[in-house]
This record gives sequence, C-alpha cells and structure tokens, in this order.
Amino acid sequence: MKNINSYRKFERNEHPVNENGDYVLYWMQINRRFQYNYALEYAVAWANKLGKPLLVYEGLNVDYPWACDRFHTFLMEGMKENLEFATDHGVNYFSYVEPKCEAGKGLFYRLAEKSCCVISDEFPVFIIRKHNERVADRIEVPFTTIDSNGIIPLGITDKDPYSAYLFRKVMQKYFLEGFTNPPQKDPLNELENATAVKLSDEFLNDYPSATDDFEDISETVSKLDIDHSVPAVDESGTRAAALGKLGHFIAHSLFDYDEKRNHPDEKKSSGLSPWLHFGKISEYEIVETVLNHQPEDWSLNDLTPNGGKNSGFFNGDPSIESFLDEVITWREVGFHFAHHRPDYDEFDSLPDWVKKTMDAHRDDTREYVYTLEELEQSKTHDEIWNAAQTQLREEGIIHNYLRMLWGKKVIEWTPDYRTALEYLIELNNKYALDGRDPNSYSGIFWCLGRFDRAWQEREVFGKLRYMTSESTRKKVRLKNYLESYGSDYHLK
Ligand SMILES: Cc1cc2nc3c(=O)[nH]c(=O)nc-3n(C[C@H](O)[C@H](O)[C@H](O)COP(=O)(O)OP(=O)(O)OC[C@H]3O[C@@H](n4cnc5c(N)ncnc54)[C@H](O)[C@@H]3O)c2cc1C
Repeated sequence: MKNINSYRKFERNEHPVNENGDYVLYWMQINRRFQYNYALEYAVAWANKLGKPLLVYEGLNVDYPWACDRFHTFLMEGMKENLEFATDHGVNYFSYVEPKCEAGKGLFYRLAEKSCCVISDEFPVFIIRKHNERVADRIEVPFTTIDSNGIIPLGITDKDPYSAYLFRKVMQKYFLEGFTNPPQKDPLNELENATAVKLSDEFLNDYPSATDDFEDISETVSKLDIDHSVPAVDESGTRAAALGKLGHFIAHSLFDYDEKRNHPDEKKSSGLSPWLHFGKISEYEIVETVLNHQPEDWSLNDLTPNGGKNSGFFNGDPSIESFLDEVITWREVGFHFAHHRPDYDEFDSLPDWVKKTMDAHRDDTREYVYTLEELEQSKTHDEIWNAAQTQLREEGIIHNYLRMLWGKKVIEWTPDYRTALEYLIELNNKYALDGRDPNSYSGIFWCLGRFDRAWQEREVFGKLRYMTSESTRKKVRLKNYLESYGSDYHLK
C-alpha cells in the first residue's frame, strides 16, 4: 500500500536528474519555513541520495498582483529571520528582493541550470499555481512540487469537494494516517553534504543577495516598485511571532473557542491565518500542539469517524473539536477545491443552484449601491460593516464572524453578483495579510453559495444564505469592537 505522503508529490516534468549539477535546489515559494516542511524534507532526501549540497532559494518579486508595503514588510521580516537561521546553522540559503519590475527576470532559471533537480511548494492558487505550471517545461532538470499545506494530502481527493460535510468525511477517513506520518521537525538535521555553495560573482552582480535589504526593512520597502498606499501593519511576519501567537492562543483562548469565538469583543480566535498563509507555521504543528491539550485520558483511539458530522470525531474537549474543525476541515476544503479546479476564482465555478437563483433575482432592486471606493473607505450606511472594513484596511485582518457579514453585504450593495465577486476579491486580497490564499476564495465564494446549501428565498439573495447587521448586533458582543474601529478610528 502506498504511504499517504506519496500523495503529496507532483512530478511536473520527466527530465532526468542532472548528476553533474552543483546542488539540489529547494525553491521556497509559500511554505517559508525550515521546520515541519515536507518539501524541504524531500529536497534533503534528494541531496543525500545524490551526495550533493542543498541550496534554498527564497525570493520576493514586485510584480505580483496587490504587491504592497504591507505584504512586503511582513514577508521580508520572515525572510530576514530565515537568513539568520541559515547563517547560524550553515544552510546554503540565497534570498533576493526584486527592486523593480523585471530586475529578477531569469534568476530562478539561472539557479535551476546549475542544479541536479528542483523541488518546490505545491500550492493551488494565485501566482504560485501559475509559476509551478510555467516552470516545468522551461527547465532541463526534474521539477517536483510537494504539498506541505495540510494534513490530508491534496492528491488523496479525486475531485473537488462541493461541501465541507463531504470533505469532512474524507478528513475523518485519512486523518489518523496523515497525522501519524508527520513532517520532520528539523529536516535539515538529516542533510549529509554541508559543503558551502558558492554562487558566481557574475550571478551575484546581476541578482544581489537581499542581505543588505534586511538592515532597514521599511527603508528598503519604501524604495520598491510596489503599491505604497497599503501600509505595513504592527505584526511581525516571523516564525517566532507565529509560535508566540499559538502559545498565547492556547494559554488564553483555546478552551473558550467553542463558546466565544464569534464575539468580536472576546478576541478568542487564534489570529494565525497570516502566518499560516505565508507558511511560517505548519498546520500539522498547530494540530499537534492543540491535541496535546486534550484531557489526560484522551488518545488517538478516541477518534470516531462519524460520516462527516462536525462534532463527535475528535471527541475530548469541545473547544478543541471545534477549533480543529476550522483549521483542518474548513481550511483544507478550500485547498482541495482549488487543487481540482483551475477556475477556483471564477464566477462560473459557482454551483448550478446558485447561478439559477441568481438568474431569477438579477433584476431585483438593490436599496443601496456603493462604488468600490466607497466600500474601500468604509463609507456605507452600516456601522458594523464600516468597522469591519476599517479593521481590514488599517490592520489587515477581519474578525471571522464579521468577515461573513462583510462578504454577504457586498452582494446586497452592488449592482450585480459578478461585480460583488470582483469587489470582494479586490478588497480582501488588497488589504488582508492572509489574502491571496485558497481560503480567500473559499470564504468569498462561500458568501456566494460555494460549499453551502439553498436557504429560504428572498430579494436579491435568492436562495443564498442571508445575514443582517441587525441580527449580528443582537447575536454577538461587539461594543468594544465598534469603539475601536468606529468612524473616529483615525483620531485614536
Ligand atoms: C468573505 C471571507 C473572506 C475570507 N478570506 C480569507 C482569507 O483571505 N484568508 C484566510 O486564511 N481565510 C479567509 N477567510 C476564512 C476565515 O475568515 C479566516 O481563516 C479566519 O477568520 C482567520 O482567523 P483566525 O486565524 O483567528 O482563525 P481561527 O478561528 O483561529 O481558526 C484557525 C485557522 O483555521 C482556518 N479557518 C478558520 N475559519 C475558517 C473558515 N471559515 N474558512 C477557512 N479556513 C478557516 C484558518 O486557517 C485559521 O487561521 C475568509 C472568510 C470569509 C467569509
């Protein structure tokens, strides 16, 4: 029987290994960490097999959609931390920050040319999906991408799951096997050939290493050819910060998660999504840490597959069960969906029942219609929505419960459903630290009916699930939240 981790491997071309190459190249694109990383582990195994050193390349270009100070600063803080780790541990690590469009053109191909084979991260959306598709045919060595995204390997599902319930069934079937075949904590400890890789002066002249760029990150970022209108936020993009968040969550919020996470004033969710998005922390280590906090008499024998129900599988503490449902089922369903659907970000990927009900309601009168700019600047009549948008614009995050309301209202306030989708993608991906992720598309498309079922029919929404600010105000505690992000936010 195949080991479950073999479903993480995607061989993207059929070239033979270049035995004369100088190194095995690991191109760190999204799982930007040296720990708990199956792709790095696989690259180390290849280096050992060939008796070659390993070179890790981590780059940051300026030409990706929504590149701005916020994401560049967060990413560069993480890269700086990786450089320090590599220096301390004798890892061959080359990082590059592209100063202006096209400056980094050809860099990856020059590194690949001298390699025996290239290993990179499997990731089903955004520019990384495109890079991985494009690169395979343009290099002469094997190009393999490895999925380090979640516990259930992407290659296990054979088609896109249309509901969380359906995916949860798959998760329940494979969780134990996935969880008990974890990524190694420190894959670099296994590396046998520690020879230093020397890149040529000519190469370094064309593509100077980012080492100096990290000395004053905000100064470097201010000079880059990116959007400077979305400022950096007060969060550090390091792995150390991610581990600190996880520790804080476990100490102060985990056991209240089930009951209190929907209340913005309580601040009981983990806040980990930006670090999960940029791969600074692995889902596996979050799940492992959380499971270590189950009651003492709990063990993996308590797992009870129950046909996809959202409780009664992990058992033990109810808050742990509900947190794991979010971080495994809800997080991974989006990865598996996008993996099977190249149209994951297109309107036409919506289920037929959704398109049918939209057709029936496309001419319904919209009471309020806002422009993208009005939405962007929190200029609607709705206090709660404005506060959520202000939190997103200014701090790069939105409280989860309000994020659903935030998405639903845009459907109501735009002239048509396609415009709503376009505005939601734009606002989410422009401002959210965790944006441009499979879960960005899951969340936005969930508002438009993906992974959901038909509800009672009403104006504009048709059979889509409906949410109102009035009932939100009654249901959740948000007085302090509104004070924090209300209209006088900038005066604070
Ligand atoms: C309109 C809309 C847009 C969204 N855009 C994004 C996005 O750009 N990036 C993103 O990561 N998530 C997105 N989500 C999903 C969800 O809102 C966030 O993952 C969650 O709020 C992150 O906060 P947290 O880390 O404190 O979550 P916690 O409650 O602490 O959960 C832990 C982790 O589980 C996962 N998770 C939790 N809730 C969900 C969910 N509903 N769907 C998928 N995964 C979940 C996340 O990885 C999260 O970090 C969106 C949801 C909606 C409705």
